[in-house]
Amino acid sequence: MSSKVAHYLQEHLVGEVMTSTDARRYFATDNSILQLAPALIAYPRSENDVRKVARFTWQLAERGRVIPMTARGSGTDQSGAALGSGIMLVFPAHMNRILELDTKANTVTVEPGINYGKLQQALHTHGRFLPAYPASLEYSTVGGAIANNASGEKSIKYGNTRDSVQSLRVVLANGEVIETKRLGKRELSKKLGLATFEGEIYRSIDTLLEEQRTLVERLESDVVKNNAGLDLFDIKRKDGSFDLTPLIVGSQGTLGIVTEAVLKTAPHNQNTTLIMATFDSLQHLQDCVQELRDLSDRPSAIELVDGNLLEQVHELNPNQLKDVVKEPFPKAALVVEFDDGERQLKKITKKADKIFEKYAVSTRVATDPEDQQHIVKLREAASVLLSHNEGLLRSVPIIGDGGVAPDQLRAYLEGIYSLLKTNNVKAAVWGHAGEGTLNFQPKLNLGQVGDRQKAFRLMDAYNKLVIKLSGAISANAGDGRLRTPYLESFYGPELYGLMGKVKQIFDPYSTLNPGVKFGTSLDDIKEIIRTDYGLDHLYDNLPRT
Ligand SMILES: Cc1cc2nc3c(=O)[nH]c(=O)nc-3n(C[C@H](O)[C@H](O)[C@H](O)COP(=O)(O)OP(=O)(O)OC[C@H]3O[C@@H](n4cnc5c(N)ncnc54)[C@H](O)[C@@H]3O)c2cc1C
Repeated sequence: MSSKVAHYLQEHLVGEVMTSTDARRYFATDNSILQLAPALIAYPRSENDVRKVARFTWQLAERGRVIPMTARGSGTDQSGAALGSGIMLVFPAHMNRILELDTKANTVTVEPGINYGKLQQALHTHGRFLPAYPASLEYSTVGGAIANNASGEKSIKYGNTRDSVQSLRVVLANGEVIETKRLGKRELSKKLGLATFEGEIYRSIDTLLEEQRTLVERLESDVVKNNAGLDLFDIKRKDGSFDLTPLIVGSQGTLGIVTEAVLKTAPHNQNTTLIMATFDSLQHLQDCVQELRDLSDRPSAIELVDGNLLEQVHELNPNQLKDVVKEPFPKAALVVEFDDGERQLKKITKKADKIFEKYAVSTRVATDPEDQQHIVKLREAASVLLSHNEGLLRSVPIIGDGGVAPDQLRAYLEGIYSLLKTNNVKAAVWGHAGEGTLNFQPKLNLGQVGDRQKAFRLMDAYNKLVIKLSGAISANAGDGRLRTPYLESFYGPELYGLMGKVKQIFDPYSTLNPGVKFGTSLDDIKEIIRTDYGLDHLYDNLPRT
């Protein structure tokens, strides 16, 4: 990038602009296996700074020069979505405040760079919380969670980030700002009449959705969570209401840049009951998860760790599981949490007991916080594996971000074990079983050609498995660059083509995080794969999953 661009931005932005090699090297990685150095890093101090960058890149693009713009939270993304070759807009430095806490409406208004964990602590002091938090909450931002439609252990009861977002302020590709929220018919027709880029977007999207209604309806599925592509399903409802918020959430900075969000909070009940249950059959595990999901008072978490994880953690650190589970280890264990009021808890756990009696080999109930700590250790055991290196072998996040319907849990686990065996790699499985989203990170040395080839074989086989089970290839977080090459075979050319049209409407010059969700092939990925994968951005916070 020419120094002219840097000079222009340095002159016009209030926030800092950097082009130093160190800064570019730091932002060349996120938590994925990919690497791509930005040309310039900007730390916006306000929405106005973001608008200026967007306006500038738009004007250059109109003259034929495309400079990509990538928003960045804490860079914990595992799909390469927080990487870009142009201007990187880093939000946590300045745009990190709580702007308003409305205790009557139970909403909180924040800037995108606020640390999720800090916001959570602030909300707890008011007896509230933001329930869709990812496991990485202590070291990631709310902006990143919105862009990834992040979810976590509580999502089974409270939904994903998308369910918590009431409205957004978004800087569009040309620097205009829009405020998204659910609009009634009258409000929508006002938007449709605007002679601005915003008006053009509303008109084009509305027309497209009307024309392609049958195609859009195909997006409805049994999968609890689908983050693949763009979510076109909930923009226009049967009552005629219209909201761009669900589309922006999960779009990974490819349609606009979020500068402010109003989020709905939920009551935070500290009284919980934790139940650990072990299983010697995957069918029993699946049946148990399904029945727990069907309870009228649904658990606030159904988390899984598999027998491989127990064995591997025990081998590395026998103390981690000492007071939790003993050898011989079961096929799998669930950690189930209920967070209802104290009076209801007894009644609910009685109902849950009946389910466990049918399916589990053993159960252990913990209500007092000290005892619960032991069970929590089981849930957090995966971090021991993630941060452990075996020589040059690393646990690499290349697969395992998909999700299936809960009635496919057994087939999903069996498929995962079979592909690990076929490729002769070691991995343990854990995750949000209640949502059908599991994690596993095979150990590979990406410095070796053979292991890099294996990584691609594993990605192909894994994505095929998820598609065969009618699951979603991106469920936990987004597609990023890593799963973009698989999106067309996942959705088929018609639906993916429709998503491409939506992208084109919002981002005609492809300045917004290009290469994410659109325009990346497997060959492109091969060019930017890291040979020295590490958790550099996380070591301040690990171990924790
Ligand atoms: C150990 C570990 C555990 C994880 N567990 C989970 C989990 O349980 N659930 C889950 O969903 N994810 C999980 N993740 C993935 C990731 O941490 C989360 O999705 C997190 O919410 C990303 O936040 P971030 O601030 O790091 O975003 P980044 O990685 O910086 O960015 C993520 C995406 O958001 C976009 N973005 C950031 N800010 C903005 C903005 N202001 N406007 C528009 N786009 C923006 C970026 O361009 C990028 O596309 C995990 C990651 C790790 C390393």
